[in-house]
Amino acid sequence: MSELQGKSALVTGGNSGIGRAVAIKLASLGAHVVVSGRDEARGNQVVQDIRAAGGRADFVASDLRDEASARALAVRAKELAGQVDILVNNAGIYPFGPTHEVTEQDFESVFGLNVKAPYFLVAELAPEMAKRGDGAIINVSTMVAELGVAGYSLYGGSKAALVLMTKAWAAEYGPQGVRVNAVSPGPTRTEGTSGMTEALEQLAATTPAGRPGEAGEVADAIVFLATDRASWVHGALLPVDGGRIAV
Ligand code: NAP
Repeated sequence: MSELQGKSALVTGGNSGIGRAVAIKLASLGAHVVVSGRDEARGNQVVQDIRAAGGRADFVASDLRDEASARALAVRAKELAGQVDILVNNAGIYPFGPTHEVTEQDFESVFGLNVKAPYFLVAELAPEMAKRGDGAIINVSTMVAELGVAGYSLYGGSKAALVLMTKAWAAEYGPQGVRVNAVSPGPTRTEGTSGMTEALEQLAATTPAGRPGEAGEVADAIVFLATDRASWVHGALLPVDGGRIAV
């Protein structure tokens, strides 16, 4: 299948969990995928797997924390792939705990990665997509951006900001052909949640699906939003959470 032949994608956090599943699926549809993350070994492995399957991919090591790191990644992705048609803002950290124990440094690192980096990646890439009249941006949120859950004020607050930005960017760039959407995963098995199996199972037990999700199930929703199959979908927040937010 070559639905995304000729397209280039940048997937942040593409060396682990949901991001890796997205990178592999986008490449299997023909996109040239730039995978980013901090860990080179895992990044290079994803690239090797994609190339072994006949796809095109490159890895860019990037510690995302501010405007400079975000813009530098976007510029490098354009150098490697020619341009970026699809941006998946997936890299994220999800610490939880009492508000009174959060340090300013914790706050800065969560907002730096989960909010500031997507903001300036969009600032660098969306105007060029708009000029070409074509582009897709998918932001990865979380169900705890929609629910008030004790211990998730910082993480949920950061992703709630991303959800609002998704809608504002849809309004700003949509009229020029850039579709901006978000997915909202529920408890999903990834490297990042591997130490929380019991909590994941407990959270998932209350959902209609009754089980945690797999990275590939979230990736399928992201890939849908990246393709022309979602050509009339702008500014949407698609829950991929086993039904948790619905009931
Ligand atoms: P994961 O397995 O923990 O991977 C996190 C990714 O983010 C890795 O690729 C990591 O790369 C990258 N990353 C972390 N800090 C970074 C930094 N400072 N600079 C650049 N990259 C950085 O994550 P996941 O569970 O697949 O989650 C992916 C997204 O889904 C996140 O935004 C998360 O909030 C959201 N989400 C996940 C769940 C879930 O249950 N898993 C539920 C709801 C929402 P390195 O390791 O190389 O730094």
